[in-house]
Amino acid sequence: MLPYGRQSISEGDIAAVTEILRGDWLTTGPAVAAFEAEIGRLAGGHRAVSATSGTAALHMAYAAAGVSAGDEVISTPMTFVATTAMASLRGARIVFADVEEDTALVDPAAVDALASERTRVIAAVDYAGHPADYDALSVIAARVGALTLDDAAHSIGSTYRGRPVGDLADLTTFSFFPTKNLTTGEGGAVVAKDPALAQRAHEFHFIGLVRDADRFEITTEGPWHQEVHEFGVNYRLTDIASALGLAQLTRLATFKARRAEITRRYNEALAGVDGVRIPVQRGDVDPIRHLYPVRILDGRRREVFDRMRADGIGVQVNYMPVYWHPVYANAGYRRGLCPNAEAFYAEELSLPIFPDLTDSQVDQVVESLSQALR
Ligand SMILES: *Cc1c(COP(=O)(O)O)cnc(C)c1O
Repeated sequence: MLPYGRQSISEGDIAAVTEILRGDWLTTGPAVAAFEAEIGRLAGGHRAVSATSGTAALHMAYAAAGVSAGDEVISTPMTFVATTAMASLRGARIVFADVEEDTALVDPAAVDALASERTRVIAAVDYAGHPADYDALSVIAARVGALTLDDAAHSIGSTYRGRPVGDLADLTTFSFFPTKNLTTGEGGAVVAKDPALAQRAHEFHFIGLVRDADRFEITTEGPWHQEVHEFGVNYRLTDIASALGLAQLTRLATFKARRAEITRRYNEALAGVDGVRIPVQRGDVDPIRHLYPVRILDGRRREVFDRMRADGIGVQVNYMPVYWHPVYANAGYRRGLCPNAEAFYAEELSLPIFPDLTDSQVDQVVESLSQALR
């Protein structure tokens, strides 16, 4: 089965990992520091804190933002459940704002109508790699005193109005799962524009340990001393994974270029095909295309999905609206809440896209889709 996404691993990646295994540090050594520095540099020159997954990074970001019971987090339903689940886990109430009909990105007008002094975080998702409208979201966040969060699991290396992802929101989270734009196996990172927020994310992912003597409440101990002020978890990424991430980062531009080529090839082949809508792109973004989400019209998505799967094409559907998950539905979130997201979900089909996908495989996908629609 041709997958919808997969990692691209080079001999250089393998060498980078085996070098770590022969060295002194398996975890929290120089590779972690170097990987965080490179991610931070790529993401607008802000501090990055690595994590064991994108989900962990979201948990850290909400912890850094101080999200707790009584707070509201406004977010999009067109995402992987982790975007909101990590805020729910901290006791926040999620307020779902509908998406734009064409991009499936959270609609700033919908966010504006829902924002209030209870809003702690406005969490957008750069669906398929296309950045959301952060200039508009930042104005709303400033009006109500909230922070902006960019779940950039799809969009490391994308730009919006000339600025890189990581520089668009107060907090940005990445995922380095194998299907994403670059991988560390499992992995993720948080980028924060405010160094104090980055430090909070760091301490939360490091068991809550405070190691800065200036902040100690206990001052009678020796050089071994470290102390906990707030509970934390252990979400530390290893040096093994970080070395893979560093090696992958050297090819991110190549990955982006290949994803753009595949997008162009799909766009050209599918633009005139009846029954299909190709993804749109705003004029002010330069996205890394994580997904290639087409719309299958006339109620035929399921049929096309089944036919393409039978052809060995691993098409996928991204995503069921988050509030349809029983954990939200059983808490009272009703279907119909976000009509644009539900309409998008009903038609969406993700075609295979990953750097090692060949032109002839792209043609094979197009052929299978065209056949399925006939
Ligand atoms: C993959 C993904 C996550 C979670 O990342 P993991 O590394 O799998 O934990 C969060 N949000 C979005 C939008 C994702 O696609």
